[in-house]
Amino acid sequence: MGRTVNIFFEGAGEVRVADKTTRSEYDYVVIGAGSAGCVLANRLSASGKNQVLLLEAGGQDRNIWLHIPIGYAKVHMRPQFNWLYPTQPEAELGGRSATIPRGKVLGGSSAVNGLVYIRGQREDYDGWRQLGNVGWGYDDVLPYFRKSEDQSRGANEFHGVGGPLRVSTAQHDHPLCDAFIAAAARAGVMQNDDFNGPVQEGASYYQSTSSNGRRYSTATAYLKPVRGRANLEVVVDACVDRLLFEGRRAIGARYRLGGETREVKARREFILAAGAIGSPHLLQVSGIGPATLLRAHHVPVVHDLPGVGRSLQDHYNVHFGFRSKQRVTVNDAMASNAGRLKMGLQYLFARGGPLSYTAASVGAFFCSRPGVTRPDIQVHLNLFSRSQKITELDGFSGFTTVICQLRPESRGSIEITSPSFAQFPRIQFNYLSTETDRTTLVRGIRKLGDILHQPEFAPFFGGELGIDPQRVSDEELLAFVRARGGTSQHASCTCRMGTDDNAVVDARLRVRGVQGLRVADASVMPALVSGNTNAPTIMIAEKASDMIEGDAKRRA
Ligand SMILES: Cc1cc2nc3c(=O)[nH]c(=O)nc-3n(C[C@H](O)[C@H](O)[C@H](O)COP(=O)(O)OP(=O)(O)OC[C@H]3O[C@@H](n4cnc5c(N)ncnc54)[C@H](O)[C@@H]3O)c2cc1C
Repeated sequence: MGRTVNIFFEGAGEVRVADKTTRSEYDYVVIGAGSAGCVLANRLSASGKNQVLLLEAGGQDRNIWLHIPIGYAKVHMRPQFNWLYPTQPEAELGGRSATIPRGKVLGGSSAVNGLVYIRGQREDYDGWRQLGNVGWGYDDVLPYFRKSEDQSRGANEFHGVGGPLRVSTAQHDHPLCDAFIAAAARAGVMQNDDFNGPVQEGASYYQSTSSNGRRYSTATAYLKPVRGRANLEVVVDACVDRLLFEGRRAIGARYRLGGETREVKARREFILAAGAIGSPHLLQVSGIGPATLLRAHHVPVVHDLPGVGRSLQDHYNVHFGFRSKQRVTVNDAMASNAGRLKMGLQYLFARGGPLSYTAASVGAFFCSRPGVTRPDIQVHLNLFSRSQKITELDGFSGFTTVICQLRPESRGSIEITSPSFAQFPRIQFNYLSTETDRTTLVRGIRKLGDILHQPEFAPFFGGELGIDPQRVSDEELLAFVRARGGTSQHASCTCRMGTDDNAVVDARLRVRGVQGLRVADASVMPALVSGNTNAPTIMIAEKASDMIEGDAKRRA
């Protein structure tokens, strides 16, 4: 498969990985090669002065479906590339539990995600700063978004070019999408061609982390171009199962590789980038976390840090499937051999057609009700439906709208169940546990129904596959939401940055109360951003790299 990818994406190459480390000590050891970890490894090794080791529990990203945008549907639940964490029964969802994906492969979740490129709102970051996190206001973080970016539309105040991460509009001019955008405008949600520009509100085609029909995971964007660097080692299939401390200083990481247990030291720092579930889990099994929880599982307490694993947030979303009156959906393209052949040829010769589509083609951000001053609802439009089986497209023309509340109040937790990292932690989201969360979603769904019933959308709207949000009571709608919703895959905030007693890292992302250890990934968000979380996580890692180098210079 590796060969196939190389030929297919000429010049793409592979990340050069080692089957073992060449040293016992590095300047920086980065744990986890996901959205954040690949950025950190690239930036910290850029000067050539630091020896950097990147350890990843998953394997190489050789499978071709990890690189073709629509491959998302094939890889995002495949055990070969995913942790597939089981979650706890949810009280507000009638006791339902779920299995949630997180990437376990070079590129982490950026290699299996839906590719949607969204940063959130100015107020999200200004809110982080107002919580005491100096240096995290919107004006502070914008330069890091721009630094990371290679924007296909060119540079401006909000966007950068020449950065490692390709960002482009994957798809244009689809009749069903155009009709949705026009219907949204009629319903008061105006067209906005840049959700990551001055305002987020509106409806438009999404931009995505893809270019010329190819996914840009952070492994592709940040690791592959620097595979010749002698001072950067990347080791895959290396799962860190404990951080080692001398007093309260992190001095080593113990990891499993090829059936053996090994240890590695960092002269300067360890940077934990194992994601919103992996990072708090690893901290807890290593003795950093709520002392009572750790003692209950026979983990010696290195430092009592009650916030580790607390404050878990996610966007709870609900899918509404509909029939399309016109045969313009991915379901139609996939329904016949001729259609599949056409798709293949479109992709092969023009890098276009449905294979180049990302999970969602079009999005909308709007306010759920009067009085709300900035969008609290996001809608994705998928050009396919899967109403019968989650793994199979429907055999008729169909599309799906996916809706979530952008700033949920509900918070959950990650807790160890054993002193061993090999045992999954207990993951409790507590979705819909506040009245605001329930009401916001119901009001938002009503507005989505309003868009779908505008005359501009009538040529495509062929009736509901589950329920039609316009034709049921609020009670029935909430019952549907409880019964059918699930994760948006945006777990975050479990090693929350802040200044209060439950904060895990400070504004420079140093783990509070210990030395030689930072966390830099989606887990450090003080509060979930109003949108998808890949771009914000990449920004966090860009900023973290600068802070780490800046602090090293000050110490020298
Ligand atoms: C299926 C799916 C769809 C999504 N869709 C979108 C989208 O369309 N747009 C968007 O913006 N966001 C999306 N997201 C969310 C986004 O991708 C994540 O928020 C982001 O990638 C998180 O980055 P991270 O660096 O925190 O963690 P990850 O990218 O998950 O990286 C963590 C890495 O650490 C590794 N690791 C964990 N534990 C260890 C250990 N002990 N030792 C060594 N390595 C370890 C993991 O294997 C993984 O590679 C999606 C996520 C998923 C899972």
